[in-house]
Amino acid sequence: MKIIVLGAGLIGVATAYYLWRDGHEIEVIEREAEAASATSYANACLISASRALPWPNPGSRGTLWRSLTDADAPMRVTRWLDPALWRWGREFMSYANEQEFARLTGAKLAFARFCQDELEAALAATGVECGYRRDGLLYVCRSDATLAAARARAALVGAHGYEARVLGRESAIALESSLAASTVVGGTLAVSDAQGDSRAFTRALARWLASRPERPVRFRMGETVRATPLQRLRSFELSTAAGKLDADAFVVALGPQTAAFGRAMGRRVPMYPVKGFSLTVPVRDTTKAPTRGGICEDSLIAWCPLTTAQGPAMRITTGAVFCGDDNGYRDADFVAHRRHFDALFPGALAWEHPSVECWACQRPMTPSTLPIIQRDPTHANLYWNCGQGHIGWTMSCGSGRVLADVVAGRAPAFTTADFQQL
Ligand SMILES: Cc1cc2nc3c(=O)[nH]c(=O)nc-3n(C[C@H](O)[C@H](O)[C@H](O)COP(=O)(O)OP(=O)(O)OC[C@H]3O[C@@H](n4cnc5c(N)ncnc54)[C@H](O)[C@@H]3O)c2cc1C
Repeated sequence: MKIIVLGAGLIGVATAYYLWRDGHEIEVIEREAEAASATSYANACLISASRALPWPNPGSRGTLWRSLTDADAPMRVTRWLDPALWRWGREFMSYANEQEFARLTGAKLAFARFCQDELEAALAATGVECGYRRDGLLYVCRSDATLAAARARAALVGAHGYEARVLGRESAIALESSLAASTVVGGTLAVSDAQGDSRAFTRALARWLASRPERPVRFRMGETVRATPLQRLRSFELSTAAGKLDADAFVVALGPQTAAFGRAMGRRVPMYPVKGFSLTVPVRDTTKAPTRGGICEDSLIAWCPLTTAQGPAMRITTGAVFCGDDNGYRDADFVAHRRHFDALFPGALAWEHPSVECWACQRPMTPSTLPIIQRDPTHANLYWNCGQGHIGWTMSCGSGRVLADVVAGRAPAFTTADFQQL
């Protein structure tokens, strides 16, 4: 079959790989000049399968309340009057109970493990380099309250087969000596979690696909896809400035833009963009910097050491802002990154260096925070692979594999029964 994949982020490129592997002729259409130029450009780079917990939980009302009353809360809502957010929020809250939390937790943790295995298989099969390292991620606590919560989380994910070792202060410092100058009280080491540069992965996999001697994948960069509903929504036409798109099947993998795209063709895609802020800062003193990725349980900043063309750097991300389709940022959005990172690793980074890179992008979040991977309910030649949300790097390859199974009409390698549905 000839299949056109819309979007060259992590999800679109991974989908192209699995469809190519099945013997299809593939085109990928992307509006930016390069793959991984939107959400997949500068995320936290953590393969944090053990953190694949659903966002709706029995404590979600408290989290919402904190976002209203605490100026320092990582989650904020700035578009209260957006009807799309209200609708999304109503569905989100319908999952915020013990029963749904247990169901979604089981499905999401199992899918994340499947996805990490698929990612490792894809790396081995293609030889793509992205600095992948599977030697655990360190989740650190600066207060007894977060350490108690971390202990409970370790037990929860432990029941689903993930080993999360609870560490006291001395053991955390033994693992990451640069924490010695901080006030950490302990943390957890998620043993099978990993890290890797998601932008490097996406771009290298795209190059690998484009350079196949047999059926090279054609990447059409710099083309924006538009959808036009036809015959009162009974059919549709897709086009770019270069003309109408012609294929046997189409896969929509437009990340946070998927909902707007769906609306244009009369399909409601339950998804809302949640903005996060990302900083990439050169390392000044490697002896003071963390050696592996992690998250601070108190502030929810995440970090990951990266190797860039300019030398060692640290990716630091935080923030979850419900502000609609908006990628804007101000200097003030990065104050928390520096304050919290410096509290853990003082003197490690060259904050004033001219190559410091600021970035903001949106997580494509569904209300259940599980992805949508399925055939369209009415259009037999249209497929959706979207909504991987806060964990799309971790879920990229598994999502591509499942989508390829759905297109082939095979039983999916991972059941999609608990996923978000259209
Ligand atoms: C701050 C932050 C930190 C994160 N950290 C992690 C992490 O540590 N680990 C993890 O697993 N996940 C993480 N994530 C999540 C992960 O980055 C995303 O889930 C993932 O990048 C989504 O990939 P995508 O391909 O769906 O979207 P995108 O990367 O946005 O790709 C969609 C593509 O579609 C293109 N496009 C849109 N509209 C059109 C159109 N009309 N025509 C043509 N092209 C179009 C866009 O240009 C874009 O390239 C993080 C997210 C954020 C925001």
